[in-house]
Amino acid sequence: MRLVLLGPPGAGKGTQSARLKEKYHVPQLSTGDMLRAAVKAATPAGLEAKAIMDKGALVPDETVVGIIADCIAAPDAKAGFILDGFPRTVRQAEALAKMLAAKNLDLDAVIELKVDEAALLARIAKRVNDTLACGGTVRADDTPEAFKTRLAAYNAETAPVAAFYAKKSVLKTVDGMALVDAVTEAIDQVLDGAVRTVRLG
Ligand code: AMP
Repeated sequence: MRLVLLGPPGAGKGTQSARLKEKYHVPQLSTGDMLRAAVKAATPAGLEAKAIMDKGALVPDETVVGIIADCIAAPDAKAGFILDGFPRTVRQAEALAKMLAAKNLDLDAVIELKVDEAALLARIAKRVNDTLACGGTVRADDTPEAFKTRLAAYNAETAPVAAFYAKKSVLKTVDGMALVDAVTEAIDQVLDGAVRTVRLG
């Protein structure tokens, strides 16, 4: 199963990817998680990415394409992978297509979680308040300002990625505003159809 999950920040990509990882036994490749780990470990890539991430902007394509190329080439990705947060620009999507074509592979599906932006802002504000109320720490890029920058980056850079995959007829859309279990069910239905099509095709 080779899958891309698309959707704005806060749409639930991480939650759904984690469930898909359990179901299909393939790695969940989250560039955001990998970059945060690089920041924590103070690697050169992490040090370069930190200020950009804190603002809510996108790190350079070369950085994330390099990370994903390594992950896709790793033995545990032989049976497939779930891309969570990548590609986020058309250049990244093109780089991914090249990487897969070089291995004679293709994506099984690209699933876009559609959400309402106003509801998303309310959802993120609640998440931040709940976390603070429990004494937890909030991600630097979950502040309202950084979150708005992330949303703007999504609309400017990542929405065209959905159009890129729609043109290739591989894009499926799921209502990301539904309850978490209902979203999982909708994704399962989409994937059942996608896998059957691939087998028949
Ligand atoms: P996420 O956890 O997916 O929301 O990612 C957190 C932050 O990491 C983003 O706001 C970007 O700064 C950076 N990031 C993650 N994935 C990418 C990507 N594919 N391209 C560029 N920047 C990324």
